[in-house]
Amino acid sequence: MNNFVFPRPRQSELGEQLRAEVREFLDGWHGDRHAAAAFGGFDPEFSKALGARGWIGMGFPKRYGGGGYGLLERYVVLEELLAARAPIFAHSVADRQSGPLLLKFGNERQRDDILPRIAAGECYFCIGMSEPDSGSDLASVRTRATKVDGGWLVNGAKIWTSSAHRSHYMILLCRTAPVAEARHAGLSQFLVDMKTRGITCRPIVNIAGDHDFNEVHLQDVFLPADALIGVEGEGWQQVTSELALERSGPERFMSHQGAVEEFAVALKQQRSAEGARTLGRLVAHLSILRRMSRSIATMIADGQEPALHAALVKDLGTCFEQDIPETLRLVLQTEPEAGASEAYSAALANVILHAPSCTIRGGTKEVLRGIVAKSLGLR
Ligand SMILES: Cc1cc2nc3c(=O)[nH]c(=O)nc-3n(C[C@H](O)[C@H](O)[C@H](O)COP(=O)(O)OP(=O)(O)OC[C@H]3O[C@@H](n4cnc5c(N)ncnc54)[C@H](O)[C@@H]3O)c2cc1C
Repeated sequence: MNNFVFPRPRQSELGEQLRAEVREFLDGWHGDRHAAAAFGGFDPEFSKALGARGWIGMGFPKRYGGGGYGLLERYVVLEELLAARAPIFAHSVADRQSGPLLLKFGNERQRDDILPRIAAGECYFCIGMSEPDSGSDLASVRTRATKVDGGWLVNGAKIWTSSAHRSHYMILLCRTAPVAEARHAGLSQFLVDMKTRGITCRPIVNIAGDHDFNEVHLQDVFLPADALIGVEGEGWQQVTSELALERSGPERFMSHQGAVEEFAVALKQQRSAEGARTLGRLVAHLSILRRMSRSIATMIADGQEPALHAALVKDLGTCFEQDIPETLRLVLQTEPEAGASEAYSAALANVILHAPSCTIRGGTKEVLRGIVAKSLGLR
């Protein structure tokens, strides 16, 4: 059970100074606050304003346009943005995982060219992992890159690719060698300019009626040799190092916080003991999740790769988020209505529509529990 120790999170003094600055900035910002799904808002102007403040790519070294901050300072800024329901969706993938991936495995040209643009809030990324027959079992991806004169030729299709239609680049995972005995071998990652000939995005409209994700078809897409990220055939190891970042952050339990806040406001009008108990329980869960997530940020900052801990936080956090609409719905008699003028009604409708996806994106709960079971020696 030692595997499950979550060390005490470290507080960063610099982070606490930043917290005050971010709050002041957000107090003066009068843009559109998303009704409930905190990172749902896509607002290029807001991303640029954050970039100008130095709050994107905070961990990049200064020579790449970053702030040279640690992960703990970035954590503080992110949780303040989420709490304020700020529209961070445009730059969030680049900031959270594509930029750090390029910093760790990219070549100098990729870093020089792209990291400063990410830090400025002007360059967005999408993740090309899932395929029509390959989601949880990523080793089965069939999109293939074949070596040709001067580079690679890519053919295949990706699915559920969030923001592919408005991203500048994709981090593409594909096969560069036939399936071997070790199924995870022979995968590689590429930096793909979304304007490259042969790439077609087809929209998939989600249950809320929004166009966030896509099918992406790649037909005879030529990539120059230096589009390869890291080492040919080591895509699997590189992807897994990305996943701890993807799974452990506050966006895995704070994306429905808007609905909880609106619930608290609505409770003032319709006071009830049951409502107060429910709110207390939700806040207690949130504070425990926050403690666990900050503990992981501390471990990553100390150079560890806490993939197991991240799987636990993602599972607990997204199940918590998924339960929120049902928990709230049973306490207050409010009709959920998307776009309603009453904030709680709109927020409730929004979380009802978004809750099903929480436990799928970024790894399903069954897959995460498989990781946990493995570490307990149960499989
Ligand atoms: C909102 C949203 C955004 C997304 N954005 C992206 C994106 O930007 N880029 C991207 O690449 N993908 C993205 N995805 C895709 C997501 O990562 C996959 O949907 C997810 O990994 C599951 O894969 P699948 O849909 O192929 O389902 P499958 O893998 O076919 O799973 C179907 C069911 O079987 C279960 N299952 C599968 N394997 C096991 C196992 N070994 N043990 C137990 N149960 C198992 C699963 O838990 C699930 O319930 C997004 C998904 C959503 C909902």
